[in-house]
Amino acid sequence: SVSVFGSLNLDVALRLPSRAGWGQTVLVAQSARAVGGKGLNQAVAAARFGSATRMAGAVGADAAGTLLVEALAAEGVDTAHLEILEGQDSGRATILIEPGGDNMIAVEPAANLAAGAQRARGAIQADTRVVLAQLESDVDAIAALFASPEAAAACRILNAAPARPEGARLFDLCDMLIFNQSEFAAYLQLDREPASLDELIAGRRLLTRPGQVVVVTLGALGSAAVWADREVFAPAFAAAAVVDTSGAGDCFCGVLAACIDQGMGIAEALRLANAAASLSVGRSGAARSMPSRAQVEALTGA
Ligand code: ADP
Repeated sequence: SVSVFGSLNLDVALRLPSRAGWGQTVLVAQSARAVGGKGLNQAVAAARFGSATRMAGAVGADAAGTLLVEALAAEGVDTAHLEILEGQDSGRATILIEPGGDNMIAVEPAANLAAGAQRARGAIQADTRVVLAQLESDVDAIAALFASPEAAAACRILNAAPARPEGARLFDLCDMLIFNQSEFAAYLQLDREPASLDELIAGRRLLTRPGQVVVVTLGALGSAAVWADREVFAPAFAAAAVVDTSGAGDCFCGVLAACIDQGMGIAEALRLANAAASLSVGRSGAARSMPSRAQVEALTGA
């Protein structure tokens, strides 16, 4: 099974009529509320891909919190280890979506940063093969979770997103790191984003122990992994239409975690995660856009 420790946010998505810049005011005709947060999105992606999934994290004792917990439960995700905190607000995100599908997101973490490792450890059980976290949680809490004996017995995956310098101290505690191109450039202090597999070899600098893997998502190009003396590139699946890229990275991470849970090798896991993410960009929303396993199999011919 997969145990996700991460954020749960109420997303408010605003569709902009045109590309906007700083200092401009835009009238928005279309808005939508949805459940989100990198943690929740990735838990939904893993569950829809067929892995038994538990989610740890925290929401406020408010209406948004109730909505978030119910949405996860409706996906079959085990919510028993979530904390519901009195006197805290649930996390919120505001998402601006441009006509081409590109997005900008501002996140107010609120209760998410109060989620502790103690409760999260309870979500790691005998059948847990993968523990997955992102950087919308407290870094000390992730460190304590990853350093716990129950997490160390599983494959610990960190999606180092959003890029936060203090997140780098978790790298040594993980078995797998996942970055997008801009995060990769930020952590490695590169002056531009990597565009080829050759440039991703720099990711080896982040490996501190044998068996660790660095995965980089490359947008419409696909994804790649480097480890030990090996590297693989997995080309993207062509998206039928690019409607909304929010959640593509989360889809990729959740499905990759599910593939590892289900015993697949790195190359096959990247291929299926690419396929799932290409389906997610063709649909609006984040958690809502995650494909089912059957839909991914229909695309890959598995
Ligand atoms: P993020 O959304 O975190 O910035 P990426 O843009 O790298 O991450 O996208 C994550 C994954 O989603 C990619 O590795 C790829 O598999 C898939 N993807 C993203 N954009 C497209 C696209 N235009 N066409 C097909 N697949 C895509």
